[in-house]
Amino acid sequence: MFIVIGGGIAGLLTARSLRDRDKTIVIDRRRVAGKECTGIISRTTFKFLGIGKEYIEGEFKRIELVHEGRSIFIKTDIVKVDRAKLERDLASELWITRPVDAIPKGDAVVAGNEVYRGAIIKAWGWKGNAKWMKGIEFSTEPINLDRIVVYFDVRNVGGFSWIVPTPNRTLVGAISYDDPLKFIPPVHRRRLEVHGGAIPRVYPKMKVEPEIGDATGLIKTFTGGGIYGIGKLLFPLVKWMSEGESADYIKIRKALHKEVTRQYRLTRLLEVGWPIALNAFRLLKDREFQAIEEFDSHSKLLRLLLPL
Ligand SMILES: Cc1cc2nc3c(=O)[nH]c(=O)nc-3n(C[C@H](O)[C@H](O)[C@H](O)COP(=O)(O)OP(=O)(O)OC[C@H]3O[C@@H](n4cnc5c(N)ncnc54)[C@H](O)[C@@H]3O)c2cc1C
Repeated sequence: MFIVIGGGIAGLLTARSLRDRDKTIVIDRRRVAGKECTGIISRTTFKFLGIGKEYIEGEFKRIELVHEGRSIFIKTDIVKVDRAKLERDLASELWITRPVDAIPKGDAVVAGNEVYRGAIIKAWGWKGNAKWMKGIEFSTEPINLDRIVVYFDVRNVGGFSWIVPTPNRTLVGAISYDDPLKFIPPVHRRRLEVHGGAIPRVYPKMKVEPEIGDATGLIKTFTGGGIYGIGKLLFPLVKWMSEGESADYIKIRKALHKEVTRQYRLTRLLEVGWPIALNAFRLLKDREFQAIEEFDSHSKLLRLLLPL
């Protein structure tokens, strides 16, 4: 039996991939499935998730980075996934028990009055130390824009805000160590919904345990993007659990660990020298950079943009 602790995107995708091979239960403490987030990922990550195109809400070839009226353009290939719909659909097909707290004890998991025994997969979000950022995002009525716009503010040290337009709605949000509401870009459209959450900036530890998602700490440091790591580890983890072959999982986890460690260090530098880093907008104003692989390997993107 497989016991997946956590019914977020990581746990649900893992359980879906294991389901036909054995009995799998997902235990989640939330009452309902379907967490909203911006859902921006590279097309490569999208392919790794093994999900259908019906979950693509928007596709983008360009990101505009803006600071004090100066822009830098990134040519890329990214998609916005409807992550809440994906979670709801996956959850409807799986054996899930909720809302209940799972407590692992050796090879067993205690969940309320039940005790489950089997292989435990932790997909329960980040549980360790981190520098926490606050994120908030509004869905508004759609606007006419063909690219994602990301804003940087000298007062929002280490943070940023964004507009993500899709045909049916626009997402307008910000992350900050301070109050993100201060940095929400003005979009003169009716607000339809609000969501948000805490985003950990984690210095990851290398571990060889069946974990996936934010639980691993392998989260893109600057943006808080956790779906990239899920895409990378999903099928290696499934192979490990199904065939007992852990080599791919360990190899990919080590590579992710190296990349995220780099990102963490670079982000710390950025935070310390924030006003200086923003000078890149004076130097690179109106320039355009190609960033396909770099969208995921942020350490390369930061090196591309910053005179570090
Ligand atoms: C505003 C915002 C915007 C974001 N935008 C992006 C983006 O554009 N691209 C991107 O890649 N990432 C983005 N992220 C990050 C992304 O949301 C996370 O990386 C992602 O949610 C990680 O998924 P997960 O399944 O690992 O963890 P979670 O979604 O946190 O799921 C973990 C689940 O485990 C459950 N749980 C925890 N402990 C227990 C327990 N003991 N027992 C039972 N259940 C438990 C929780 O209830 C939860 O349902 C964003 C985050 C925020 C807040």
